[in-house]
Amino acid sequence: MLGFFNKIHLFRAIFFRGGVWLHKYGQLQLTSRHAPPMLAASLMSAIQQSMASPEFKTAFEPRYGESVEMAPGLSRVTCNNPSPFTFHGTNSYVLGHDTVAVIDPGPANNQHLDTLVAAIGGRTVSHIIVTHTHVDHSPLARPLAELTGAEIYAEGPHRSARPLNLGEVNALDASGDSDFHPDHLLQHGDEVSGDGWTLTGLHTPGHTANHMSFAWKDTEFLFPGDHVMAWATSIVAPPDGAMTDYMSSLETLLLTPQQIYFPGHGGRLENAHAFVRALRAHRKMREQAVLSQVREGRHLIPEIVAVIYRRTDKKLHAAAGLSVLAHLEDLVSRGLVHTDGHVSLTGRYWVEE
Ligand SMILES: [Zn+2]
Repeated sequence: MLGFFNKIHLFRAIFFRGGVWLHKYGQLQLTSRHAPPMLAASLMSAIQQSMASPEFKTAFEPRYGESVEMAPGLSRVTCNNPSPFTFHGTNSYVLGHDTVAVIDPGPANNQHLDTLVAAIGGRTVSHIIVTHTHVDHSPLARPLAELTGAEIYAEGPHRSARPLNLGEVNALDASGDSDFHPDHLLQHGDEVSGDGWTLTGLHTPGHTANHMSFAWKDTEFLFPGDHVMAWATSIVAPPDGAMTDYMSSLETLLLTPQQIYFPGHGGRLENAHAFVRALRAHRKMREQAVLSQVREGRHLIPEIVAVIYRRTDKKLHAAAGLSVLAHLEDLVSRGLVHTDGHVSLTGRYWVEE
């Protein structure tokens, strides 16, 4: 039976929503682990029904080969590199009027370079700004710099969020642009200014360790790279990515006034703060799902994936395993889950009752 305090938690949990609600649920789980299974099941289904899921928007017209005006002084060129991870392709942005900056030039793709050059239309390129060093975002930076004389601004070269463990293989190694070297290193809060615009760099690690978002000062607009996108959740996969970082980077965005985002893939996002809060709640829900599977005796990542992602295409299960690993890494760092040695894909996980 539930004790008095558990009932209080249950009562409070029902009247809270979103992150606060889940926080209360976290307390409830900790204090009601001996609750009858039926109750646990109904609580879980209550969570799923009450959870505010992000409303993903997948309507998007990439208009390959064109420059699409997004706002005065801002246009978008989408590269024709569609995939399950890039959606319809990578968005590059051209910012400014008489002289311009290019945000995320994109992958090594000659056709895309030609379209970008046409979008620039003979104007001087003053800056090339890179959100992060995945191969769909940064490799064109150096060719574009050589072509235009612009200098490259980014947080730093590609690096993983933590060192590789002994024997660990980085499943995402091929996705990192290890050749990338910016001319100017940016730190959190640094401002970059050009013709009629100032961008504030926000260090938002999680998707990659060097990921930066850029808030367009004195406007409603922000460039979140791959950290927040309207069409899907961001991939957070160790060792390149880190869930603890990703969650605190969501908080970083909530501290900025901008509410309209132009992401690295897919269409623009409006009411961004509500969406970011929903993303946060969504990850917290996933975290609780991982935690409860470990608690129920599923000690290995493939076992956890098979249950949590049972409705997901099996082709995505390897990626899902990395996402579960990201949650376990975070849960182990917070002392809520235990493992032998390093957190790894092949590790065994348990909770101490
Ligand atoms: Zn990307």
